[in-house]
Amino acid sequence: MQLKWCRGTESNRRHEDFQSTALPTELAAHTLNPVTLYLASDKVFRPSDISKSLDTRELLMTIMTYDFIIVGAGIIGLTVANSLKHRNPSSNILVIEKEPTPGLHASGRNSGILHSGIYYGPGTLKAKVCARGNERMLAFAKEHKIPCNNVGKVIIPVEESDLPTLDKLMANAKHNGVRAEKLTATEIKEIEPYCDPYEVGIYCPDTSIIDSKAVVAKLRSILSLKGVEFLFNQKVVSANAAEKWVQTTIGRYHFGHLFNCAGAYADVLAKMFGVGKGYRFVPFKGIYFKLKPEFNNMVRGNIYPVPDIRFPFLGVHFSVSIGGGVYVVPTAIPAFGRENYFPFKDINLAEAIWSGFNLAKLYISDRHNFRELVHREVANYSKSNFLKAARILVPSVTADALLRSDKVGIRPQLVNIRKGEFELDYVVERGKNSTHVLNAISPAFTSSFEFADKVLGTT
Ligand SMILES: Cc1cc2nc3c(=O)[nH]c(=O)nc-3n(C[C@H](O)[C@H](O)[C@H](O)COP(=O)(O)OP(=O)(O)OC[C@H]3O[C@@H](n4cnc5c(N)ncnc54)[C@H](O)[C@@H]3O)c2cc1C
Repeated sequence: MQLKWCRGTESNRRHEDFQSTALPTELAAHTLNPVTLYLASDKVFRPSDISKSLDTRELLMTIMTYDFIIVGAGIIGLTVANSLKHRNPSSNILVIEKEPTPGLHASGRNSGILHSGIYYGPGTLKAKVCARGNERMLAFAKEHKIPCNNVGKVIIPVEESDLPTLDKLMANAKHNGVRAEKLTATEIKEIEPYCDPYEVGIYCPDTSIIDSKAVVAKLRSILSLKGVEFLFNQKVVSANAAEKWVQTTIGRYHFGHLFNCAGAYADVLAKMFGVGKGYRFVPFKGIYFKLKPEFNNMVRGNIYPVPDIRFPFLGVHFSVSIGGGVYVVPTAIPAFGRENYFPFKDINLAEAIWSGFNLAKLYISDRHNFRELVHREVANYSKSNFLKAARILVPSVTADALLRSDKVGIRPQLVNIRKGEFELDYVVERGKNSTHVLNAISPAFTSSFEFADKVLGTT
């Protein structure tokens, strides 16, 4: 059978480009996305010609070849596609996404904060890309009129023992080229009047908030116009690294180079390529509270505690949202599945057992003071403890002011299985003809445009 395929974009393909003809039995195709055209034998068909009744074996005959395939249409997959198209304008790129639209997981469920880059120690990848990523994301928002607001952030020590960490953060800021000012408690209170810092605090003027869903949607439409193809509702289920193909629930696609940007499933995908064997994700669920609107005046920007830099999470904090409300942001409790957003939905038993097993190992070994982290975060699951953590920052917040919000996010946290430790920095591993983004945790949304260039490397 001679196979053909056709290049083009959603916008520039014309119906006349395709011949309509009776459906041959050997044709493999699906009709989920109008951009997807599958051509078999020596004829070409348009999607409307193609019967949905084709059986699976025929569907699996689908063969397409791309210079680059990206798995995952979250912010990392989209910015990687953007960088690739910028570097190689004539390359043909396919993004494969298991959901019906982009950004349904971490990229559309985050806090929408553009971090300044003050937390990350010298030499880390996060330190290298966060501040510049913040600038590039702001420029993108400005160019495309995406809602974004430069509200700033304060970091509040509440006891003397917090002060050495405050100094470390100031040193990071200097090293990372991040603007930050150490202010007196009185000066901090001029910025955030309801806070009660211990003697001093840090003000970061370059922390902003952004509509992350709007960023994802805009990027997707720009990429489509540039000729990047998207396949939605197709999950990559297997791969052959040597023959350079991936198999989805519907078809098989060949690539020159593959980028694994599958977020919470990046470790699973990497293993299909024999990469990332020493890693496994453990999912942590973040449940958001909100201030009742009549209390919104208590917070003007972002109010953070001094973080415990041994842990990957920043602690309970306050953040104004782009819609004008104030979120009290979130706990990080172990989740029963990588997409287990709601208590009795999407629980994956095998994953829950694996996560439980890994968590138990971390708990027993107590590396990185893991027990303390678990005790603190699980305790915050109760509203009264959560309130206590919130009141450390804004003492006049009462139980009355807090509402449980329906916003939930899952932070997939990479565990280095051999060391029994959390990986705190981004992890990018390379296979033959493939690149795997294994730990795109916060602030990966902020960093994404700059990080994507690092992910490409010399590809
Ligand atoms: C609660 C929370 C708050 C956060 N707050 C911030 C913040 O304020 N600022 C900030 O900078 N960062 C923040 N982050 C981090 C940031 O959101 C993430 O780092 C970033 O969105 C990760 O993007 P991603 O593209 O790697 O993952 P995702 O957005 O999860 O995208 C991965 C995509 O891959 C798809 N996929 C997975 N497996 C397959 C498969 N086999 N086949 C096909 N498709 C597949 C998924 O469906 C998904 O759409 C936060 C994260 C969370 C969870």
